[in-house]
Amino acid sequence: MRRKMIAGNWKMNKITAEAIELANGLKRELYKIDDVDIVVCPPFTALEEVSEATYESNIKLGAQNMHWEESGAFTGEIAPMMLKDLGCEFVILGHSERRLYFHETNDTVNKKTKAALKAGLTPIVCVGETLQEREAGKTFEVIQDHVYNSLKDLTEEELAKIIIAYEPVWAIGTGKTASPEQAQEVHKFIRDLLKKKYSEVLAEEIVILYGGSVKPGNTKELVNQIDIDGALVGGASLDVKNFSEIVNAASTCGTK
Ligand code: PEP
Repeated sequence: MRRKMIAGNWKMNKITAEAIELANGLKRELYKIDDVDIVVCPPFTALEEVSEATYESNIKLGAQNMHWEESGAFTGEIAPMMLKDLGCEFVILGHSERRLYFHETNDTVNKKTKAALKAGLTPIVCVGETLQEREAGKTFEVIQDHVYNSLKDLTEEELAKIIIAYEPVWAIGTGKTASPEQAQEVHKFIRDLLKKKYSEVLAEEIVILYGGSVKPGNTKELVNQIDIDGALVGGASLDVKNFSEIVNAASTCGTK
């Protein structure tokens, strides 16, 4: 059985005091939830304070990126163990904004995924097609490329520890959500890929999140899809009421 998960990607938002306020608000609203893994991913600058604010609560901590090296001369970068040191359990890797604006490739996402696992972090690996690619009928080709190459050379045991987020680029921050059917189709395609290349057990176990303009009003219909286990939420994760409603909506959905 797969556990449901709602993860909030705060992106480059919230100075420390605002981040603490948001974390405390979520703690107050969501302390009763025990059937959904709740993850918040603040910017690096607020990780320590949010880690303290969420300590011993049901809210887990994630980062939005990291470098693949353990240490060294990489000015401005953050190492996996630095995230662990601050209490992170998760790290988002290969977000489309990183791929688009910072030239991340499947290759760098692959290195980061392996480094995260080595450090004991759970990678949330993002895959997804652009609007141009969808309109050119290349959605499945792109997803296959992202899944196979971002996760290249991982053992089945390692793969069982990661989370995949399907985030169609055209739905991120645009207010355009993929319909539940569109999202389900790609989630099933990802599970089928994993079944073909690895095993049915892995394909059934792996948690796959949907991301792209998830809001309180569309969460239930998305998370009720058979292959959708939860959501990676951007904009709506910046507000206590919206994010809490999304988590509560996911909590009412059945487990698969
Ligand atoms: C995201 O950035 O991962 C995301 C899904 O953003 P939004 O919910 O704002 O579309």
